[in-house]
Amino acid sequence: MSEPLDAILPLFHRISDLTHTAALLEWDQEVWMPDSAAASRAHQIATLRSIAHEFATSDELAAKIGDLAEYASANPEDDLAVSLARVATRDFQQATKLPTSFVATLAEAESLAKSTWRVARESDQFALFQDDLARVVDLNREKAALLGFDEHPYDALLDLYEPDLRASQVSTLFEALRSELVVIVATLSGLADGRAAPLHRYFEPDVQLEVGRRVVEKIGFDFTAGRQDLSSHPFCTTFSITDVRVTTRVDENFFPSAFYGLLHEMGHALYEQGINPRLERTPLADGTSLGMHESQSRLWENQVGRSRGFVEHVHPQLCSAFPEALSTVSAGEFHRAVNAVTPSLIRVEADEVTYNLHVMLRFELEVALFEDRLSVAELPEAWNDLSEAYLGLRPSNDAEGVLQDIHWAMGGFGYFPTYTIGNLMSAQLFKKAAADIGDLDEQFRAGQFSPLLDWLRENVHRFGRSRSADSILRTVTDQGLTAAPWLAYIRKKYADLYGTDL
Ligand code: ZN
Repeated sequence: MSEPLDAILPLFHRISDLTHTAALLEWDQEVWMPDSAAASRAHQIATLRSIAHEFATSDELAAKIGDLAEYASANPEDDLAVSLARVATRDFQQATKLPTSFVATLAEAESLAKSTWRVARESDQFALFQDDLARVVDLNREKAALLGFDEHPYDALLDLYEPDLRASQVSTLFEALRSELVVIVATLSGLADGRAAPLHRYFEPDVQLEVGRRVVEKIGFDFTAGRQDLSSHPFCTTFSITDVRVTTRVDENFFPSAFYGLLHEMGHALYEQGINPRLERTPLADGTSLGMHESQSRLWENQVGRSRGFVEHVHPQLCSAFPEALSTVSAGEFHRAVNAVTPSLIRVEADEVTYNLHVMLRFELEVALFEDRLSVAELPEAWNDLSEAYLGLRPSNDAEGVLQDIHWAMGGFGYFPTYTIGNLMSAQLFKKAAADIGDLDEQFRAGQFSPLLDWLRENVHRFGRSRSADSILRTVTDQGLTAAPWLAYIRKKYADLYGTDL
């Protein structure tokens, strides 16, 4: 190993250990922590995170990143040094561009907005939230200016989640996708026929957890390097490549909540468990972008989990686990049920086809806000208009509309597009995997998941952040981000499922 790399690794290890320990406390907060510990836990997490931030913005680290970058440019064949220099430089610049006083002001404004958002949503009064949201938007404009951008202030925020992607690229992609999707959704919603009914029955919660655990273990989630627990909002978190945790929530009267939620989180976890152990405790031991991360969760949840082959594989297990709910439901009926398309007002309840329209609506409003074409006061009306135009549904109140997500209260502008980007990437990767390793549906039917998992490990997971999402896509599929494979997948699958032309 080179001298500059040797010198910087202990600094990376220290930052990684501190941030992952904070993440462990956050996981505990959601899973086990008693309510009374909220204040003390907030202090503990803040202390660890602020020490990590001090190290991550220190002069010592800056000097060693400089040495590493110099070495990397003289030794372009040293992959690890080159990737580390690129990613560490980027992280350092991002960590130091925002003055500490600004970070504190922003954190306070977002924390306040989160509390008023909760009250506003419960009482369905956007007016209670409006001023705090306007403040968060203003501060995020300032944040974009501090971070810097070439074309559009939104780019600076998008870049935090999807490095190097521009708002203009997202707009072009989304516009083309939307015009086709609106027609597909209108066609399918005209055919709504109650096919999802078998999912709305009683499913014993403990049995749901047991079945889910069996299935994700069979697919390849390593329980010696991870856990599954309950929490009110499902998530996946990582403390090291050998300790990746997923959480689930169970709805005893709606089967997909736990089962498909778990497949989703497991997809995130497989990505983290598949990172090259050599990258452990460095900034490279993470997913390369939120879009790429979401591509892994959506791939296992939808392309695999809602495929005919997979459903036929799990159907006998589900029937013996839930004889009352499913004994008269055939594999074909179950497959139709888990793929029912019904436009709805709430994003997190949306099916695979309508989901992206929810995302596009939010993206358009965010860009309009940052271009000053829309004021915060006009948001509820603008939301409802777009909902009607895209989904054919107009919210009757703001709780079902503009108040449904926490993201804006938290200042997460630029985050929403990564959900759709993940869907598009998942289809690009899945198409190429099928071309490389044969009839995937047949493999799933036979309970064979390792060919696909091994392919993902080889082509995506192992790199962590050492390759960008764009570079992975181009290397694997010969193309950058595009909507064509996802649209083709949707058209074929739902034309068959609904017996119609799409
Ligand atoms: Zn996800």
